[in-house]
Amino acid sequence: MNLERRPRLRLARLPTPLHEAARLRTALGGADSCPRILFKRDDLTDLALGGNKARKLEFLLADAKRQGATALVTTGGEQSNHARMTAAAASLVGMRAALVLTVAGPATPAAEGNLLLDRLLGAEVHLVHGSESKSGSGDEAEAARVAEVLASLEARGEKPYLVALGGSSAVGVLGYVDATRELVGQLAVMGATPRWLYHASGSRGTQAGLELGARLFRAQYRVRGIAVSGGEAEKRLHAAAIANEAAELLATPERIDPDDLLTEQGFIGEGYAIPTAAGVEAIQLVARTEGVLLDPVYTAKAMAGLLAHVRSGQLDPADTVVFLHTGGAPGLFAKAAEVLALAPD
Ligand SMILES: *Cc1c(COP(=O)(O)O)cnc(C)c1O
Repeated sequence: MNLERRPRLRLARLPTPLHEAARLRTALGGADSCPRILFKRDDLTDLALGGNKARKLEFLLADAKRQGATALVTTGGEQSNHARMTAAAASLVGMRAALVLTVAGPATPAAEGNLLLDRLLGAEVHLVHGSESKSGSGDEAEAARVAEVLASLEARGEKPYLVALGGSSAVGVLGYVDATRELVGQLAVMGATPRWLYHASGSRGTQAGLELGARLFRAQYRVRGIAVSGGEAEKRLHAAAIANEAAELLATPERIDPDDLLTEQGFIGEGYAIPTAAGVEAIQLVARTEGVLLDPVYTAKAMAGLLAHVRSGQLDPADTVVFLHTGGAPGLFAKAAEVLALAPD
């Protein structure tokens, strides 16, 4: 495997911490009813408030630089963490960033949360109105705007590089193959052998990298994605395809079948970026036991999945599970009213 030789720019602060969430376990009934929970803190990668996209961008930006790009173009929902971190990465290496963001409703969104940060980071922000329900991206209107933005950058003498939605391309996947190398090393030092790794699954690059990484580094856990948006059939195929393309980049014979990917659909609620009551309960529980902040779009839904599995007794209390915290807290500030409306106290 030639992971070490893949072009990479150092953008994130790594390794991220791995620590026990002992008070959360106690709140869930202690060692008699709840497995040991380890938090892998990819919310602490840095790069303008952190998150899982930092690891993908290390490989994506190296690829962009190698191709002589001067500007990054990407897409996402109006509160995209990926767009914010792409803007930050562009600032850090002296490139321009243009973001095509799909707004869910007809109204112009307030410049808060990630959208505020996009502006402060100097990105060109292009808003498109459309449906975010399927994938966090707005399909045709978005594709048309992306084409315009690419043409406009070229007309200004820039060489644009298009970063896939969520950074979920084969090159981006390498970020979570490398994260697995890091995690497996930390687990060995700790002497921990977790049965499961839980994480929020959106555009699937993270899951693709975790699944490929788990095989390449002989992880003992199984990866359990908690979906945060619909479109499972399509996304599962995409995840396997980019994982297998990444395996080719790494010159390893490992391949992933779409049916090997485990992604739970029961915690999406009404759709992408719409907070759920179970998610808000998870935010409060983790904040009040661990002092760690989850976000309502991704990590709260993933934690709601883990909590439901603990409470229904489907996890063995003798086991250990890893919860990968993928970041997203800046998005909390754009969802204050919705979150509070669902908060029991
Ligand atoms: C993008 C994102 C995810 C999902 O990662 P994918 O690779 O898109 O599946 C999870 N959590 C947060 C906070 C994110 O921003």
